Amino acid sequence: MKIVLATSNKGKVKEFQSWIDEYEVVPFSDMMSPFEIEETGMTFKENALIKARAVYEKLGDKSHIVLSDDSGISVPILGGIPGIYSARYAGVGASSADNLNKLIQTLKNEGIEKTPAFYTAAIALVCAKGEFCVHGWMHGNALSQARGNNGFGYDPMFVPLGYTQTLGELDENVKKAFSHRARALDLAHIVLKSLK
Ligand code: IMP
Repeated sequence: MKIVLATSNKGKVKEFQSWIDEYEVVPFSDMMSPFEIEETGMTFKENALIKARAVYEKLGDKSHIVLSDDSGISVPILGGIPGIYSARYAGVGASSADNLNKLIQTLKNEGIEKTPAFYTAAIALVCAKGEFCVHGWMHGNALSQARGNNGFGYDPMFVPLGYTQTLGELDENVKKAFSHRARALDLAHIVLKSLK
């Protein structure tokens, strides 16, 4: 039995492979020709399930488990943006730097230097036994400045609760220990064990 990832993002594939080491974890592009999956959901959960379902239906082999994730950062004082639009906040095809700079600029325009924010990760599992979805969160503060080069995406402007440095400045192992994805993956593991 394989775990097929509904992503071909190399960073995510590596991250999931190191976490789920008791299974063979392969990106869906190794099993079929890659295709575009439109994220039309209104929540992280809906989008994660849309991606996992689309790959599961195309697979043909129902003995595998398809895993997908959807994640993003939300800033409550701004009404929860960018939320599910995190990857395309500065427009479809925008770079991570464009998205980061846009969120920083939005905070600056509002005169905000620091405000509570959180990351969400939804992980969906689709297999013959059904559809499952788990979540993980990481809370902290968003700053109207970028500090450090570690991590990716919005990490240089995010200070996790209990720290003074941004995820761009902190060692990557700190993030690995308690990130939204790490927490969701812990729960996904429990679901995976129940599917054996
Ligand atoms: P997804 O690939 O559709 O799940 O999009 C996730 C987007 O949310 C990424 O492009 C990042 O902008 C943002 N994001 C999610 N998780 C993280 C994280 O751990 N650090 C920084 N940005 C993140």
